[in-house]
Amino acid sequence: MIRFYNTLSGRLEEFIPLEPGQVKLYTCGPTVYDYAHIGNYRAYVFEDLLKRFLLAKGYRVTHVMNITDVDDKTIRGAREKNLSLAEYTQMYIEAFFEDIDTLKILRADYYPRATEHIPDMVKMIKGLLVKGFAYEKDGSIYFDVSKFPKYGQLSKIKVSELKSGVRIDADEYTKENVHDFALWKKQKEGEPFWETELGRGRPGWHIECSVMSSKYLGETFDIHCGGVDNIFPHHENEIAQSEAYTGKKFVNYWLHCHHLIVDGEKMSKSKGNFYTLRDLISQEIDPLDLRYLLLTTHYRKMLNFTFNGLRQAQATRRRIYDFLYELHHRTFPPGETKEVSQLCQEAKDNFLINLGDDLNISQALTALFELIKKANVLLSQGVIKLQDKQTLHQALLDLDQVLAILPSLEEEPLPVEIIKKIEERQKARAAKNYALADKIRDELLNQGILLEDTKEGVRWKRLKPSI
Ligand code: AMP
Ligand code: ZN
Repeated sequence: MIRFYNTLSGRLEEFIPLEPGQVKLYTCGPTVYDYAHIGNYRAYVFEDLLKRFLLAKGYRVTHVMNITDVDDKTIRGAREKNLSLAEYTQMYIEAFFEDIDTLKILRADYYPRATEHIPDMVKMIKGLLVKGFAYEKDGSIYFDVSKFPKYGQLSKIKVSELKSGVRIDADEYTKENVHDFALWKKQKEGEPFWETELGRGRPGWHIECSVMSSKYLGETFDIHCGGVDNIFPHHENEIAQSEAYTGKKFVNYWLHCHHLIVDGEKMSKSKGNFYTLRDLISQEIDPLDLRYLLLTTHYRKMLNFTFNGLRQAQATRRRIYDFLYELHHRTFPPGETKEVSQLCQEAKDNFLINLGDDLNISQALTALFELIKKANVLLSQGVIKLQDKQTLHQALLDLDQVLAILPSLEEEPLPVEIIKKIEERQKARAAKNYALADKIRDELLNQGILLEDTKEGVRWKRLKPSI
């Protein structure tokens, strides 16, 4: 059984998709007004874990992630840089795709952009006007929250004190401001606009997700994700718009990840503790160490990002690498051991069972590290045979289909100068010139290449710089 915590019901629920074997997933994507920060990537890595887990369980997953390329923030940013909205957002869209590839986040099936769906949004807004859920005021159109009695069901806010007819134009606002929200904003001086049947203007932020999710996934779909900050008002408003328009349930399972904070404080530019992926890479941090760190705190817990945490992630990934390295550089006698295939099967089963329990990542990782621990014992006892090596390697690859944290064993070839140095050292050793041999070894170590002299000859390992 798979179960997830559903924000809508406030409890763990068995996951049963609408169509057997098929999951329809919508995740709120980036607002492309700046480089995404590592808090955003916490949300995207959590969603990637969820998706990879569902794929490992054999589901087909149709995944849609929107790109918000018009809203208050993108308009402000473009104006400050004196660029058109499209030129401005394009830089950050490209950066976003580079970053998700770097973090091994699987691509969604669709990345609809808000600016490419204006007619669809106009259609839904017109429908909401006709059905009496929306009204026009001074050229803008608002959703009338008082007409939707279920408003507040997701975020559990009370709407009893709501003053009917009080409006809010901003895309983002707090729970203290439960008001009618803008579906369509009348053109303001100097802002980009679309000429439509609703007049000149632009959409509010929330309508895009209602429109683009139903366009690509249908009016009712299985899972909708985002960070906890999306619950109110964004997701609350999505439910109101969609359910008022279709009369059907919008989403069956709402999954939200908690925030990432930095050194115990909220991440913010002014505090100087605001990191993009690029900031970390420029500090020689391996992006997969960050991915590991983001993955390993349960998605419903707050994640406190520290450099110490990154160092631990690096050390843990190193353990996996060392194990794989041993496996690949030892010679094994032919044959196989039943114990090894049993261990591998057990690890894979436990891994998926635990992830099926609301993505219990720590228990799932325990299954991985137990496997490595037991296999290391067998390695030291000389029990492992050639076929076992393949079985173990395959088991790790299977688990890594979900985690995507393994370093590549297909090392890049060494540069010619380094190969020459290694040969030079071999000659020095053969000539018993150990001082020179050691000198060359130290030189290489400084360049991140560790040499090991074994019975089978010299081996090299590439060392990642320490954080
Ligand atoms: P935005 O670009 O602000 O619309 O955010 C994109 C996604 O990142 C949303 O799902 C947000 O909920 C999520 N998000 C933003 N800040 C954080 C954070 N500090 N920790 C985790 N998720 C976040
Ligand atoms: Zn959204």
